[in-house]
Amino acid sequence: MSDIFSDLESFGLDKFSEIDIYGDKKENEGLKEGAAANKAPVVNEKDLIFNKTYNCVVCGANFKAKMVRAGKARNLGHDDDLRPRYERIDVIKYEVLMCPYCGYAALMKNFQDITPTMRMLIRDNISSNFKHRDFTGDIYTYDEAIERYKIALLNSIIKRSKVSERAYTCLKLSWLYRGKAENLPIDTHNYEEELDECRRNEDEFTKKAYEGFTQALANELFPICGMDEPTLSYIMGVLARKCKDYNNSMRLFGSIILSRSAGSNLKESAREQKQILVREMKNDLN
Ligand SMILES: [Zn+2]
Repeated sequence: MSDIFSDLESFGLDKFSEIDIYGDKKENEGLKEGAAANKAPVVNEKDLIFNKTYNCVVCGANFKAKMVRAGKARNLGHDDDLRPRYERIDVIKYEVLMCPYCGYAALMKNFQDITPTMRMLIRDNISSNFKHRDFTGDIYTYDEAIERYKIALLNSIIKRSKVSERAYTCLKLSWLYRGKAENLPIDTHNYEEELDECRRNEDEFTKKAYEGFTQALANELFPICGMDEPTLSYIMGVLARKCKDYNNSMRLFGSIILSRSAGSNLKESAREQKQILVREMKNDLN
């Protein structure tokens, strides 16, 4: 996991390959103080997106990013960890804004949240190394989206964001690797290896998300990343199950089932998850 940022070399950001996602001070010493990709898996994805102009809150430049057209993509429900599914498009790919000039990137909903100190940290540590690179395709490929998310994750570590923001970015990275695996063209060179690599990366970012949300839950107040307590507890329950932290998973699903504030759909999902959990625990014992 220590080399998760090594593929950002073309952006000039590979020197952070050893940085620790949740290590704030000691592990990340050396930071200056604040003074291509795959072919599109789906032909019609480009019809569901458009270019929108944004203003960078770090360097002031205007830049374009691809956005999903509101109401155009048809919702097909979600995976058990609430990863949304849409027909003909994976909307998660389009949730990071990245300034191509200074390298500032963040989840769209966090993009404007910046303090003067954060701006300085980003200028000194990201912009000073960042190499301009355009995304020229009609869509963002999975590899491009993963790069954008990793740059957003790196920014959130550098600017010392809330731990929950980093955890949420890791969760979405796990979703992107799942999406990449699902859409991997069958004629891909070394298909099986690529698939294994996607699954390994999905697992790594699942663990990182679980670790981060566990910290956030102990230190932050709700709403966390826009989620209320039952929703985050549910996602945590699924992450705990996937990380084989079965006792905690059981406790989290139990708390949702008994919760007064959880909706009936979420309670039903928690009951289903509990059954899956019991099955997996049994299988693990055999
Ligand atoms: Zn900028």
